[in-house]
Amino acid sequence: MFYLDHAATTPVFPEVLTAALPYLNTEFFNPSSLYSPGVKVSRFVKTARERIAHYFGVSPGNVVFCSGATESNFMAFMSTAFSSRLSGQEIVISAIEHPSVTKAAEFLKSRGFEIKILPIDHSGTVDLSQLLSVLSSETRLVSCMAVNNEIGTLQPLELLGKAIKQYNPKIMFHVDATQAVGKIPLSIRLAEIDMLSLSGHKLGAPKGIGALIMRRDLPVQPLMEGGGQENGWRGGTENVFGIVALEKALTIMEQNRQKTSTQMIHYKQKWLDFLGEQHPDLYIYTTDYVQPFYLNFGIPQVPAEVFLHHLEAKGIFVSTGSACSSRKSKVSPVWELVGVPQKKAKTMIRLSFGYENLEEDQELLFKIFSEVIRDLRT
Ligand code: PMP
Repeated sequence: MFYLDHAATTPVFPEVLTAALPYLNTEFFNPSSLYSPGVKVSRFVKTARERIAHYFGVSPGNVVFCSGATESNFMAFMSTAFSSRLSGQEIVISAIEHPSVTKAAEFLKSRGFEIKILPIDHSGTVDLSQLLSVLSSETRLVSCMAVNNEIGTLQPLELLGKAIKQYNPKIMFHVDATQAVGKIPLSIRLAEIDMLSLSGHKLGAPKGIGALIMRRDLPVQPLMEGGGQENGWRGGTENVFGIVALEKALTIMEQNRQKTSTQMIHYKQKWLDFLGEQHPDLYIYTTDYVQPFYLNFGIPQVPAEVFLHHLEAKGIFVSTGSACSSRKSKVSPVWELVGVPQKKAKTMIRLSFGYENLEEDQELLFKIFSEVIRDLRT
């Protein structure tokens, strides 16, 4: 099997499973319990929280564990919108946000907020001058993702953050960093990010764990009240297994980040060489901002779904776009925004690479791809 769909989800690192498994059996206790096995478990949660906080350069009280990036994004939006400490009726989001952000914005629109969309250009990134033209005295929140989950472009977060804060330091800057955490260096402080969302299953931890990271004490509104967990910001018994796994996965990703990044650059270059030399008439989407772990391409006139299933039949797993929306037949609007016409966009498959994709496997992989491409063209 060749798994080339790491933007959809990632396999759990074996070391992560080993580290977290005891919290499903021998250390199953509730961290809120007063007897010593419970207290012991609460210490592990505390340590994981401290390490994650240290990783992002924030204080441990500003890490809110939750179920994943969808919840984290929603929490960031609702907290900002309903805080009495903030003002302004406008929310700015980039044109290529994940549905968990756009839906949160739509929800707030139905509650009287005005939503402004930040356009992106053909490079797949937000233009700073566009940001400056949409900011106003009414802006309460700006949300821009770090790496896009469909085309893989990295946004100029430092430029955006600095510009927002220079305009008005009270505007909240939220970043959905789901596809970036552990893969690229990200500094909350340098990019002046107030709230950052992440998800465990994109970085080698299991599904169902994520976090909202806050630069300082922010007026977070609990979406779920309950037993006062997470500093009262998110009620519900902690997902201890997930929390321990998330910390371990983040540590592994960070330890290997440089190495994996170099590996991915070479790995992708070999893909580009292969496509350029052997299939020069394929459509390829690539700009300077597309991260090395993403590659989108298509065979002229062959629907992406057909390509995908032919690859699947040979044990190769790819995506036709965002996993969250790829079951829908509609072409993602992102393509039009980056200047790729519908006809081409319909053919595009997305390959997203991970650490276990190795150069030594590429010869076989390219052979299979060439066979599939030939089959589909005859
Ligand atoms: N944001 C982005 C950029 C994503 O790629 C995803 C997952 N596809 C999400 C948010 C939602 O994450 P989760 O599955 O953890 O809710």
